[in-house]
Amino acid sequence: PALRDPTDFAAAIRTIADYPKPGILFRDITTLLADPASFSAAVDALVEGHRDDRVDLVAGIEARGFILGGALAHQLSAGFVPIRKKGKLPHDTVRIAYSLEYGVDEMEMHRDAVRPGQRVLLTDDLIATGGTAEGAVRLLRELGAEIVAACFVIDLPDLGGRRKLEAMGVEVRTLVA
Ligand code: AMP
Repeated sequence: PALRDPTDFAAAIRTIADYPKPGILFRDITTLLADPASFSAAVDALVEGHRDDRVDLVAGIEARGFILGGALAHQLSAGFVPIRKKGKLPHDTVRIAYSLEYGVDEMEMHRDAVRPGQRVLLTDDLIATGGTAEGAVRLLRELGAEIVAACFVIDLPDLGGRRKLEAMGVEVRTLVA
């Protein structure tokens, strides 16, 4: 049988209906991450175009953004910074409330995680309403970061997140809609 195209990212993602709440179609990237060719192709596609962007730091949103972010940071020879749910980081933090497709929460970064002017690539697995990524952009900018781009494996275009980030002046890269 022919090998599956590793850049057919839609085929590598599993959809779980009614998780974590009725009516949500949960796009599960664990199947993509577990497939060596797909994971590698996804990381390559996300860093493409940013190799010459002098990225200092990749910022990943908890938790699936950590998995992608570590790999992206290694590819770009950049550092990695975690954007975490509140109460998880041990040192002085900056915090922001944000809304997401299924609830509200607060996220934090270490206050000294980014120095003013550092060039940051933001990442997460998926952008839906963009509320999570918007919060991350605001935190990063509060610390003086210059946001090179925000990249996601999955875009849910009907929910408007890409437009929200672009309206904030952030370039958005996604692999599958
Ligand atoms: P949003 O803030 O609405 O853009 O939601 C994006 C965040 O929620 C990301 O961290 C995603 O991991 C998660 N998320 C939202 N909707 C889904 C979905 N349908 N499937 C998987 N993850 C989702």
